[in-house]
Amino acid sequence: MASHIVGYPRMGPKRELKFALESFWDKKSSAEDLQKVSADLRASIWKQMADAGIKYIPSNTFSYYDQVLDTTAMLGAVPDRYNWNGGEIGFDTYFSMARGNASVPAMEMTKWFDTNYHFIVPELGPNTKFSYASHKAVNEYKEAKAQGVDTVPVLIGPVTYLLRSKPAKGVENNFCLLSLLEKILPIYKEVVAELKAAGASWIQFDEPNLVLDLEPSQLEAFTKAYAGLESTLSGLNVIIETYFADVPAEAYKTLTALKGVTGFGFDLVRGNKTLDLIKNGFPSGKYLFAGVVDGRNIWANDLDASLITLKNLEGIVGKDKLVVSTSNSLLHTAVDLINETKLDSEIKSWLAFAAQKVLEVNALAKALAGQKDEAFFSANAAAQASRKSSPRVTNQAVQKAAAALKGSDHRRATTVNSRLDAQQKKLNLPILPTTTIGSFPQTVELRRVRREYKAKKIPEADYVKAMEAEIRKVVDLQEELDIDVLVHGEPERNDMVEYFGEQLSGFAFTANGWVQSYGSRCVKPPIIYGDVSRPKPMTVFWSSKAQSMTKRPMKGMLTGPVTILNWSFVRNDQPRFETCYQIALAIKDEVEDLEKAGITVIQIDEAALREGLPLRKAEHNFYLDWAVHSFRITNVGIQDTTQIHTHMCYSNFNDIIHSIIDMDADVITIENSRSDEKLLSVFREGVKYGAGIGPGVYDIHSPRIPSMEEIADRVDKMLAVLDTNILWVNPDCGLKTRKYGEVKPALQHMVSAAKQIRTKL
Ligand code: GLN
Ligand code: ZN
Repeated sequence: MASHIVGYPRMGPKRELKFALESFWDKKSSAEDLQKVSADLRASIWKQMADAGIKYIPSNTFSYYDQVLDTTAMLGAVPDRYNWNGGEIGFDTYFSMARGNASVPAMEMTKWFDTNYHFIVPELGPNTKFSYASHKAVNEYKEAKAQGVDTVPVLIGPVTYLLRSKPAKGVENNFCLLSLLEKILPIYKEVVAELKAAGASWIQFDEPNLVLDLEPSQLEAFTKAYAGLESTLSGLNVIIETYFADVPAEAYKTLTALKGVTGFGFDLVRGNKTLDLIKNGFPSGKYLFAGVVDGRNIWANDLDASLITLKNLEGIVGKDKLVVSTSNSLLHTAVDLINETKLDSEIKSWLAFAAQKVLEVNALAKALAGQKDEAFFSANAAAQASRKSSPRVTNQAVQKAAAALKGSDHRRATTVNSRLDAQQKKLNLPILPTTTIGSFPQTVELRRVRREYKAKKIPEADYVKAMEAEIRKVVDLQEELDIDVLVHGEPERNDMVEYFGEQLSGFAFTANGWVQSYGSRCVKPPIIYGDVSRPKPMTVFWSSKAQSMTKRPMKGMLTGPVTILNWSFVRNDQPRFETCYQIALAIKDEVEDLEKAGITVIQIDEAALREGLPLRKAEHNFYLDWAVHSFRITNVGIQDTTQIHTHMCYSNFNDIIHSIIDMDADVITIENSRSDEKLLSVFREGVKYGAGIGPGVYDIHSPRIPSMEEIADRVDKMLAVLDTNILWVNPDCGLKTRKYGEVKPALQHMVSAAKQIRTKL
């Protein structure tokens, strides 16, 4: 019985690659230093898997930046602007594409399916020239082999590669990316031939695009691609790996009929219909790579349950054709539990990071082969049982309250128009009211105080004093700038999810549970392990303090339930919506406490609402229904005169505009740095909505300070589409990452622009 790992995190257990990359980029270390750290990481990963007993160990899942960019390099598809002169692509060209250089900006980056991993989007057109320009896959195969490990080289499949690309500038509207298949297949053939010559006996093509809603012509491309590769692939065993969802029935038919393929990999964690597809027909003589160990989460596998599933599958595909695997690349989970010293042993026993998942896969494979490690299995069963029965997980009152929300439809009793009228009587705001999205610049000194307080190195009183002084500074500045609705600046917050997670029950935090987000950047999501409740108010102290410093309205600032959910590792023992409802109830209590404390404007950020959108259309409505409902639950209980704002960090929601409106917020601020009037007309046309809208009037992600004229021009353009009485004037997102030297003049220009336009209206 065999075991297989789809892919492995490349950052290292203590983010060694991150530090090596950043030091290389800062010219503090050489290319050789970076190569050495990387080679050591690869060697230790291969050894770890080989020692564990994994049969099919992946190679070429390491990357200096991104595996899609690696594929672009392999195909030599470098956009002209990087002035690449051919030959093997080196660090210069590679990192210029990834990060830009002094004269050319980087290529676009976007989310890899529904993960928080971002890839570099290939730009392809009819004139793109392809050539075999990176031998990385072959080099890594040989490197592992020299260390005594015969690996399965992993390539992103040709169809997924093309379908993740975007048409190059100038051909946006009339170019079919799949028309390039014939041009890239010859390069794939060269790579495959070289891998074969180097001694590879297996090869893996990742084709996750197969889990999406596909047109028949897109499905045909898979058939064409693998028929085209068939002769080169002969003599090799080929795995086509899918992940992130089940494969729709039509795609399953296409997939399992592909020529020259030996085995198929499926995500059996998220793919809830896949088992039925397999039962109804799996090609005889082919291998099934059964992804039963979750690569998207940090929970220990329920080994007994997995064993039952695997035994069922064995009955269908045959004992020698079943391979135990992970649901997807372990890239999307944390690296190694061994470095978690802060977590208590009970919670730790419930978890498995990548290194532990490798052991789980292996233990399952051995158990199927009749060599069950009884001690490993019984420790696992004990941990599963403790997780089920632990009083830390279950809170009956919370369960009951959340269950009561199901199937009902909570919303504020009045329309947004009448609420806005009531609010205006109280707030008395000018037209085109000005505000910001929450955070103000965070200085080194500020971060130091926060860190030292957390480490208990300074007394609480000192910390409170420092935060108060900071809030005072931010309030004074906003009054001086004459902003209408103020914020306290969020100096007490390190991160908009962590800050709330730390104060809610049911959350745990890791020391090293990093997951790559893009390039050298990693995130450390909190772990939601139990029923969520709010022991005491979380933000009321700071918000009321800030409100006491000014007569102007001070926005209470909260992170919404959907964003907290989507940016955490979520428990897998109940549906996501139940966890979301629990968080919503906790935030609802906070909203009501803020109102009681005299806060009249409350912003509930839902930066990540769109991110949770399922991959397939058929599932969108279900998600949007409970996500939007969760948001509404947070503020059903308040008076008409309390104004609810929400903020979203993106502007491409043409397709979900009805859900955004259904959130029933009084004011929506959105990121709009690539100002697009089309977006605004979506708002206007979609509904006679009436709520306030604040599309960011300048991009805060850049240090550039916009002029007053430029901002005024932008606001004028917005006014051509939106009514004066609904438009708010605010920048994009939070100002946390900027410097005061940039923020002050930019906000000054923003307020002057608003004032100037007011006089013209
Ligand atoms: N209120 C948050 C801030 O200003 C919002 C952050 C975000 O949009 N991602 O920092
Ligand atoms: Zn934002």
